[in-house]
Formats: sequence, C-alpha cells, structure tokens
Amino acid sequence: MDLNLRNKVAVVTGGGRGIGRGIVEALAAEGAVVAILERDNIDRAAQLASAIGNAAAFRADVTQPGDVQAAAEAIKGRLGPVDILVNNAGVLSRKPILEDSYEDWDRVLKTNLYGCYNCSRAFAPGMVERRFGRIINTSSIHGRVAKAGMGSYCASKAAIDMFTKQLAVELAPHGVTVNAVAPGTISTEINLPLYKSTKPEDVALQQATLKRVPVGRIGEPEDIGRAVAFLASGMTPYVTGAILYVDGGYVAEG
Ligand code: NDP
Repeated sequence: MDLNLRNKVAVVTGGGRGIGRGIVEALAAEGAVVAILERDNIDRAAQLASAIGNAAAFRADVTQPGDVQAAAEAIKGRLGPVDILVNNAGVLSRKPILEDSYEDWDRVLKTNLYGCYNCSRAFAPGMVERRFGRIINTSSIHGRVAKAGMGSYCASKAAIDMFTKQLAVELAPHGVTVNAVAPGTISTEINLPLYKSTKPEDVALQQATLKRVPVGRIGEPEDIGRAVAFLASGMTPYVTGAILYVDGGYVAEG
C-alpha cells in the first residue's frame, strides 16, 4: 500500500527506541522526513537518524513546554512545517495506588498526558494554519482495561483517550485529524524488567498475559509503526477521534 507520506514532515516523541523507533522507521519507509525527539539520549536519536537518512534528531523533554516550543521552532527551521505529530513518549510506574508516591504520579501524568498536551499546543497551530495535520497519540489497552499495580499509568492513558476525542472535535473543522493507537503488550524496554524476570510471580504474569492475547504472541514495535503510518496518511481524512487497538485481539475478547 502506498501511504503517500513523501515530503511530509513528522515528529515522533521518544522516537529513539522501542515503539517510537518502530514508528520512526515506518514513517520514514513511507517517505516522510522524521524529526526524532529525545530527552537525554540525543546520541541514540542521532545514530538512528543517520541510519535512516530522511530523519534528524532534536532534544526536548515533553514535560517542559519551553523545551517543546524550542524544539518546534528548531524543527520548522531545519525541516519545514510539521504535518504529523506522534505523541509516543511515555513512562510507567508499577506500584499499587496506595503504595505509589505523589512524585511517581506526577512523573507519569506529566509525561504521558501533559506531554501530549504540550506537544499538541506547540505543533497543532501550524497544522491549523495550513489546514492539514495528523496527530496520533499513544494510548494503551490499559486506558480501557484496568491493571492492578499500574494505577497512574492506566489513569494517564484513559485521560489520553478523552484528550484525543476532545482535540479531534475541536480540530476537525480545520482539516486536522486526531487519533490514538492503543497498543497491547509490545516487546520493548518498558516491559523488560517484567519479561526478563525469572521470579515465579513475574513468570506467571508473563504466561497469563500471553494467554490473554488471541493471536498468541506479544506485539513488536513495527506492528504499532504500521498502524501509525496508516493513521498519518492522506487515506484517513474521515477517521478522527478514534482509538485504534493494536493488541492482537486482547480488548476484543474483553
Ligand atoms: P520505552 O521506555 O522503550 O521508550 C519510551 C521513550 O520515551 C524513550 O525514548 C524515552 O526516553 C522517552 N521519554 C520518556 N520520558 C520522556 C520525556 N519526558 N520527554 C521525552 N521523551 C521521553 O517505551 P515503549 O516504546 O514501550 O513505549 C512507548 C509508548 O507506548 C509509551 O507511551 C507507552 O506507554 C506506550 N505503550 C507501550 C506498551 C508496551 O507494551 N511497550 C503498551 C501500550 C502502550 P529515555 O530513553 O530518555 O527514557
């Protein structure tokens, strides 16, 4: 399928590794020029950009509106106006709510939810001005399905789902679509502490997770990359406010 992203400029937050990297590679493979936004690991992003070719690395902490604004100006100056924003950067705290700290809640909400808000504030005005844009937020199956020990994360992703719908409604008259991808369990570093663990309770959780996925495997970053490229393309002007579950059927089974 030709998604026709040639000459489109895309920004992917947290694009240097994991799902973000899968998204960067999928967009670049369809011809987009990709700005890889990273907080600390700018060298990792620069290496990826040079391996891909049609990409460049920029620094920003998505929790800092000033950082994001500065990155938006740098990207526009170097690559041109931005057509596609993928809010992918995210963090997880694995603690029951009553044991979690205010600092962890703050970190998770500020990265996952406020990160989407800060980046949308910085990049959407240019899209509105040019009457074309694609914003794709990274939600999770756990925006819909609760998971013990992941309260702040689940709350942040549920909030992203509503933020996605709200922004979609507000930007629809301006030619900008806003959607979310909601991955199931994907093989990335965010999950490694659990998936590398040999503790019996972690192994039991790994097996239980796999049993819950109808297609019988956990996902790969490219599974998410392909879904994002589809939502970013010109083929989806009538898809907005949607939450696309890319989860091997996990949510469908309930
Ligand atoms: P990773 O931990 O592998 O990657 C997260 C990326 O986000 C890293 O590049 C990280 O940078 C970056 N990041 C974190 N905080 C900030 C910040 N404040 N500013 C800028 N960048 C930041 O996670 P995944 O690839 O697994 O997850 C990506 C997204 O997908 C997240 O939103 C996650 O919630 C979501 N998701 C993941 C699932 C999974 O099973 N893996 C399932 C469902 C959703 P650094 O290296 O500096 O920390």
